[in-house]
Amino acid sequence: MCDKCFTEEIKSFPHHEEFEKFDCELTKKIANDKSIKMGKFINTAWKDTGYQIYECIACGQLWKLSTSDYVGGRQFLRLKK
Ligand SMILES: [Zn+2]
Repeated sequence: MCDKCFTEEIKSFPHHEEFEKFDCELTKKIANDKSIKMGKFINTAWKDTGYQIYECIACGQLWKLSTSDYVGGRQFLRLKK
């Protein structure tokens, strides 16, 4: 991880506002800074849940964002290589 992507994992988003703030930051890094690119989506066994993979172009770190409908169940974690 580096300052072009994120410097820490987010273990939970207690409120919707925190997720929106994060989402906004992530979108900016993808669209404006182009420091992160969107990777593949990995389905899990659970309906409508899975992980969206993101890759930092600067450091190569892979991140996964769980896409639970329930905001409190979402996490943004580093993917171990
Ligand atoms: Zn990075």
